[in-house]
Amino acid sequence: MKRGSISIVGAGPGDPELITLKALRRIQNADVILYDRLVNEELLNYAPSEAVRIYCGKAPGLHSMPQEATERLMIRHAAAGSHVVRLKGGDPFVFGRGGEEALSAAAAGIPYEVIPGITSAVGAAASAGIPLTHRGVAASFAIVTGSRCQAEDSPVRWEALAHSVDTLVIYMGVSKLGDIRKELLGHGKDPQTPVALIENGTTVRERTVTGTLGNIDKVAAAMKISNPAIIIMGEVVKVRAELLSLEEAVRSQIG
Ligand code: SAH
Repeated sequence: MKRGSISIVGAGPGDPELITLKALRRIQNADVILYDRLVNEELLNYAPSEAVRIYCGKAPGLHSMPQEATERLMIRHAAAGSHVVRLKGGDPFVFGRGGEEALSAAAAGIPYEVIPGITSAVGAAASAGIPLTHRGVAASFAIVTGSRCQAEDSPVRWEALAHSVDTLVIYMGVSKLGDIRKELLGHGKDPQTPVALIENGTTVRERTVTGTLGNIDKVAAAMKISNPAIIIMGEVVKVRAELLSLEEAVRSQIG
């Protein structure tokens, strides 16, 4: 019997062209693909037609397949000799539970690998014209989760982040914007700090809105920004407007 394997693969942030060559090759060679909600389904077209495609997505609040069931399925197929591709949005090790999946593959004694992907913060920032670091403006950035903000056991140390990092990128935070704002303002972050929200970054449906820490929850509500979206906070957000106005100036000279 052929030996099975598990590839825990990052599909990139949304634009199907932003997948790595290595990831694409694993898809082309897959027997079984277990894919998540944020994976661009166009990528499944690269799999052999006989490959089994299984959706394991979780819509927020609606768990269509619990994590344990996904891991069991992944191991069962690999143990039966299949090349399993566990395809995940962005990068598997950035809020993707890829670590848990690697641990369960290792515990089951199944050969596995992790193939990185462009995480949505990096993809969306590039697409929206916001450099996460910028000489003279920002020398550090942090990626944090906005879920469970203000919960007693919030996994994020907002107090430290309010002052010690130049650019903050917050995943899973749009529905918690009010709490995040309160938390950061409460720890003394400047209400004038520029903020951008990028919805469906790198896809044809990408939308970016900007505001300040003081008003961003109102801007988001007015523009009906919803998931998936990331929040970028810091002076680097101003570079976007600078780029847009330079492009506009050049266009009007040509035109
Ligand atoms: N492993 C993924 C993150 C999964 S957590 C990665 O590396 O990107 C899910 C969160 O990712 C969403 O709530 C949202 O904040 C962010 N996200 C995923 N895709 C996105 C996209 N195309 N645009 C903006 N944010 C996105």
